[in-house]
Amino acid sequence: MKQKTKMIHGGIVGDPHTGAVSTPIYQVSTYKQDGVGNHKGFEYSRTGNPTRHALEELIKDLEGGHAGFAFGSGMAAITGVMMLFNSGDHVILTDDVYGGTYRVMTKVLNRMGIDSTFVDTSDLSTIEAAVKENTKALFIETPTNPLLKITDVEAAAALAKKHGLLTIVDNTFSTPYWQTPLSMGADIVLHSATKYIGGHSDVVGGLVVVRSEKLAEELHFVQNSTGGVLGPQDSWLLMRGIKTLALRMEAHEKNTAAIVDFLVEHPAVEKVFYPGLESHPNHEIAKKQSGGFGGMVSFDVGSEEKAEEVLSKVKYFTLAESLGAVESLISVPAKMTHASIPAERRRELGITDGLVRISVGIEDAEDLVEDLKHALN
Ligand SMILES: *Cc1c(COP(=O)(O)O)cnc(C)c1O
Repeated sequence: MKQKTKMIHGGIVGDPHTGAVSTPIYQVSTYKQDGVGNHKGFEYSRTGNPTRHALEELIKDLEGGHAGFAFGSGMAAITGVMMLFNSGDHVILTDDVYGGTYRVMTKVLNRMGIDSTFVDTSDLSTIEAAVKENTKALFIETPTNPLLKITDVEAAAALAKKHGLLTIVDNTFSTPYWQTPLSMGADIVLHSATKYIGGHSDVVGGLVVVRSEKLAEELHFVQNSTGGVLGPQDSWLLMRGIKTLALRMEAHEKNTAAIVDFLVEHPAVEKVFYPGLESHPNHEIAKKQSGGFGGMVSFDVGSEEKAEEVLSKVKYFTLAESLGAVESLISVPAKMTHASIPAERRRELGITDGLVRISVGIEDAEDLVEDLKHALN
């Protein structure tokens, strides 16, 4: 089955009891037992809920793993995965990971004795140099935000394996429609389903898929013990979102290509960051490992004042954090999503004050280009 078909026919389709073609929302906490311990597979909804289970089966099929898990947010998913490790363990992460990932590693999990190092994972030698005796995992985000850096998942996972590390990939930006990290050797893939998977700016959720039965048992134990599960209503919304994920990703891709073509030619734009550009340093790797380059693009207009002017003039790009939804969004990372990173560190990473990030929606491409043209002129 191809990905597009799986989005409709994967997982558990419909309701076997009534024939309903949409999975019902089992808004329930507990389940009647016919005798002590004699139940139909569900005992208590933290441990398992039929609607959440249907979503977990679907994401498992889409990522091609052994088991899926739905959490209350992307951060709950990432934290759940990190709970597989012990005090004294060390994790290597991509240097421009999502800000929330940086925060939980350096301000919360560090207090539990889980140590982290952030390196440019697009350069394999920097990963190898960071491996210590107690390193247990490599956490990659690709493409990254806001600079759209690309890590070669297959090569990085092979390197991690050589050192006995688990490879974890945050696949939020690509989604399983464009990229399936488990097929490239990763052990765990995870998502902020709040973004493209949900796709309509109406739900917060996180998803994880693991490669092996052993990891599935361990993560289920963590999820059930710590309790950060996704509710049935939100699980249903994510399944509804996945039904159109393929169509949306293709629409994002097409619109983004038109916008990038326009931006690279515009004299007010100093630099465009997009893995689909041949000038992108890892364009060939992006092409090899992903079916599409995604709907996120960043561009530098030279100064904070100019960036703010662009933001104030656009009509169809909503000034907001988050990404991956049907409506186009615009932001200035240095002042918004990455404001918590010290200015000097931002400069090191290349996140300038004039950098504008857009999440391209599925509106008409001509309208979006016209809008940016007006704002830039
Ligand atoms: C948003 C985001 C997260 C966090 O997800 P939430 O659903 O907001 O908790 C993690 N990783 C990436 C790449 C994200 O964009």
